[in-house]
Amino acid sequence: MRVCRAGSVVLATLALSTACGGGAVPAVREAALPASPSATASPAAGPLAGKVVVLDPGHNGGNAAHPEEINRQVDIINGRKACNTTGTETDDGYPEHAFTWDVAGRLKPMLETMGAKVVLTRPNDKGVGPCVTERAAIGNEARADAVVSIHGDGAAPSGHGFHVIMPGLLPGHNDDVVRPSRVLGRTIRDAYRAGTGLPYANYIAKNGLETRTDLGGLNLSKRPAIFIECGNMRNPGDAAKMSDAAFRKRMAAALANGIKRYLT
Ligand code: ZN
Repeated sequence: MRVCRAGSVVLATLALSTACGGGAVPAVREAALPASPSATASPAAGPLAGKVVVLDPGHNGGNAAHPEEINRQVDIINGRKACNTTGTETDDGYPEHAFTWDVAGRLKPMLETMGAKVVLTRPNDKGVGPCVTERAAIGNEARADAVVSIHGDGAAPSGHGFHVIMPGLLPGHNDDVVRPSRVLGRTIRDAYRAGTGLPYANYIAKNGLETRTDLGGLNLSKRPAIFIECGNMRNPGDAAKMSDAAFRKRMAAALANGIKRYLT
């Protein structure tokens, strides 16, 4: 089951850029959306100076214990969907939310070193949500130059490899971002493959790319945005890599490379 399909998207307002630590996390529900997080980083230098990247680590550690909150239906323009989902896990019990949080946490400083301002859609891995709508709103509010949602798939064990999901056209809603999102998607795909050596998914997508209009995080984004399913957590080979810290560092470096290429 591709748990991720249910969407992972939106949240509310956590003030993000410095929030990688593990403080208590307020459940994210419908809190008022705060203005975009203020930039506190030192004046940027480097190839990504002046660029804003929003990293969206899929799911959250508290989701499973709060089904009433994450199952709440939210509007994703062409339908309604759960606010958020629990995500998948490896057979050994390594959860997707922990995987996405780890990769995002490695990726963030890599981008900051290159001068980017980086905003996360959640401040830690212990909270609930945020809803996909809120996650998208964070990218929009931050006026992100690129939004990257990080996931691991939960497909049949025989399937392996990664794929990138790009937004399909919803006329009148995301006309301006479909094209740049495709460029972002192809660039990330190429960099991720080159940097990790992982193959394109053999069970979904085509050449590692897929277009969808059923994900709130993509539908609601007014900024260039993609999802990456970094591997299939239900496949033993992919799971072994995704469970390995050194390999996750490699994944993050590959994503950093792709984001840099797209933004420069
Ligand atoms: Zn997911």
